[in-house]
Amino acid sequence: MSLRDTLLPDAAQQPLTFSQSVSEESAVNLTIVDHPLARHYLTTLRDESTGNESFRAAARRLTNVLVLEATRAVPTIETPVTTPMGTTTGDVLADVVAVAVLRAGLGMLDAVVDLLPNVKVGFAGLQRDEQTAEPVEYYVNLPQVDTASVLILEPMLATGGSLSWAVDKAKEKGATDITALCVVTAPEGVARMYKDHPDVRIVAATQDVGLNDAFYIVPGLGDMGDRLFGTIDRPPL
Ligand code: URA
Repeated sequence: MSLRDTLLPDAAQQPLTFSQSVSEESAVNLTIVDHPLARHYLTTLRDESTGNESFRAAARRLTNVLVLEATRAVPTIETPVTTPMGTTTGDVLADVVAVAVLRAGLGMLDAVVDLLPNVKVGFAGLQRDEQTAEPVEYYVNLPQVDTASVLILEPMLATGGSLSWAVDKAKEKGATDITALCVVTAPEGVARMYKDHPDVRIVAATQDVGLNDAFYIVPGLGDMGDRLFGTIDRPPL
């Protein structure tokens, strides 16, 4: 039995097509941002000839577009503002916390910190034990999340294990308003999130066909962390 069959017994028998792998129910909380800029930067990220620096820039620019959609429902607080011409009423954004899932989530962080006023940032790191294939938590550091809108930065929603775990961590600290920001989702990951956390919204640039035997998203963009940080065996193009 392959690792994929062991970890995803239900998905293992399913053909990896969009319509058959994603139930209508599991698509409820998923928003795919269909914007020309999003499609452009996603294509740059997918292209295997994109080098590390261009990859980082495209990840940052794509995240700008995704953040606009992900923060659409964040509350604002009315506040008086004095212009050079008089006084009017303005709005300031209520608290937002971003949680970067290590390490690929770091590729979305610059855009989030740049766009969102006074955003507080948490980090969550999980790695797979090579012997047991069990996920092991190695770092969690979250600011106060119970009164904030929480954005979890997890660019590759593959099996959904890391995102579901990061959401658990945020909920343990009292988070109730959670949105996941993803670049590419796989139907398996979306279905897992719908099962574990149906209240969590997912905003992404695309939903791909599915996972291969090594749990990479197909067609995807490869290993996001490696492509962001240059930790690949072959020299950067
Ligand atoms: N993580 C990645 O970086 N890429 C995938 O395709 C799946 C998980």
